[in-house]
Amino acid sequence: MQGLHLTADLYQCNGDLSIFVDELALAALCRTQTELSGLTIVGEKWVTFPEYQGEPGGVTGTILLAESHLAIHTWPERSGVTLDVYVCNFSEDNSVKARQLLEGIVTAFRPTQVQRNTLLRGDEHGPVGSGELLLESLNEYSVYGFRFPKRLLSKQTAFQHLELLESPDLGVALRLDGCMMTAENEEFFYHESMVHPMTISHPNPRKALIIGGGDGGALEELLKHPTIDQVTLVDLDGEVIEISREHLRSINKGSLDDPRVQVLVGDGAEFVRTTSETFDLVFLDLTDPETPAGPLYTVEFFQACQRVLAEGGAMALHLGAPFYEPDQVRALSSKLAEVFEHVSAFGLHIPLYGAYWALAIVSDQLQPKALTADEVEQRLHTRDLRDLQYYNAEVHGALFALPNYYRNLVPVTDVVMM
Ligand code: SAM
Repeated sequence: MQGLHLTADLYQCNGDLSIFVDELALAALCRTQTELSGLTIVGEKWVTFPEYQGEPGGVTGTILLAESHLAIHTWPERSGVTLDVYVCNFSEDNSVKARQLLEGIVTAFRPTQVQRNTLLRGDEHGPVGSGELLLESLNEYSVYGFRFPKRLLSKQTAFQHLELLESPDLGVALRLDGCMMTAENEEFFYHESMVHPMTISHPNPRKALIIGGGDGGALEELLKHPTIDQVTLVDLDGEVIEISREHLRSINKGSLDDPRVQVLVGDGAEFVRTTSETFDLVFLDLTDPETPAGPLYTVEFFQACQRVLAEGGAMALHLGAPFYEPDQVRALSSKLAEVFEHVSAFGLHIPLYGAYWALAIVSDQLQPKALTADEVEQRLHTRDLRDLQYYNAEVHGALFALPNYYRNLVPVTDVVMM
């Protein structure tokens, strides 16, 4: 088989309208470019779609090739085009011809932006890795990914696209709007780091608020602390909570139904704005700023959180990947420094997020960095925190030891008064 599959998605095209709406013109363009590339036409089929909201319909067509196929779809209402060229390289290498055909058609449409993808298919030695390859963008130019042999669930909730996938490396994994959230075998990196450095640093944490965190992973870590006697968890999406209850029990261990926990479905910003309660600890365990959680990464929301913190209280949140999203990490930590006396930035590599990940603990009193390894050890002992897979007394200090490229992004606020 040895196939090469090229795709191109064209945006804001300035090509002649005829090749968008006239199937004869489009067929002639594709036929000419196919012949110029040296590939062999064995058949073709073209369809023009009816008018749409007063606009002419687009055209779908395919040219069957002895080497495989060309397929193209035009979207005149969006000045867009999607096309793919698939060739097999069994008897000879048709890669150059395939690229020439694809680029000849792309050029004719004069797009402003082009998204290209290349897939190698049907490797003669059998599958490369096993399972569906899912990629996630770290920024405009960098992506990372995982292969999942099993897809357990895919659904659109009222707020986001939710997937449950499974692989031997990760176990069952939750993905929202194409972003990895948590996974059975790996969740301890993020949840232990999000929860224990701040909770251990608080002398007597009793009441906590988790905004987001519908998978229950942070909640489960928090309930390990014997002084915690009341947690309110507010997640926008009840389906995340329900699906986590059913499918992510090895992560939340039933914590979503613990008698000390009140689980609310709603907007965390609304809850913080309207609650009259105060909390020793607040956790923002949210999707990234470019999601429905966006308004919860603002100075106004951070000020609202400050108002619900009890005396000596603190808040933890994640900031993103300092190498791939330096502007985001810089902007968020500056906003936090506008509101809180101390911004204690920390970080660790999180395999599921594909990068070294920045988090922060903010407070007007608490300074987690001030805690020595002996004091952390002492508190781990007195609070009987044993079955942790990532966090320990030495790791506490290491988390706050920032590499310079990251430290330079964060305003200096947590100068520890020894
Ligand atoms: N650990 C993950 C991370 O670092 O990206 C976060 C996991 S948790 C599942 C993220 C949750 O934030 C989702 O369940 C989503 O529904 C919730 N969320 C997003 N916007 C929200 C809002 N405005 N109020 C409350 N929860 C929100």
